[in-house]
Amino acid sequence: MDNFIKKVDHVAFAVSNLERSYHFYKDIFQMEFMGYETVESQKIKTAIFIQNGVKIELLEPTSPESPIAKYIEKKGEGIHHICYEVFDIEAAVLYYKEMGANFINEKPTDGIHNTKIVFLHPKNCGHLIELNQKMAIE
Ligand code: ZN
Repeated sequence: MDNFIKKVDHVAFAVSNLERSYHFYKDIFQMEFMGYETVESQKIKTAIFIQNGVKIELLEPTSPESPIAKYIEKKGEGIHHICYEVFDIEAAVLYYKEMGANFINEKPTDGIHNTKIVFLHPKNCGHLIELNQKMAIE
């Protein structure tokens, strides 16, 4: 491998009306719908689409306490983060840290669809970046 990054895994958008965005992607763009997920810890409901291996995640806050609610309040709706899939998340974190990257969480946590995830701070390059690694299904 040339670097740790395998591909773009998904792009996530903060939306205030999930049904509206869902219908746009489903009925107008006619992308394949993968399902809804609720992430209790983030107080969000997501609708996930996939096109040619790249997912589109629509994130709607389920409470005013959600980080997504605060994001929309501050910046409005729009792109929230991009996620790059990496080959080895532990090794990638160690390497990027050594290279001077700032992380929001360095210790990988459980993401949806059996992944491990970390977030890099937007101060690195102007946008929020998630890294994920797909874990083997036991
Ligand atoms: Zn994400």
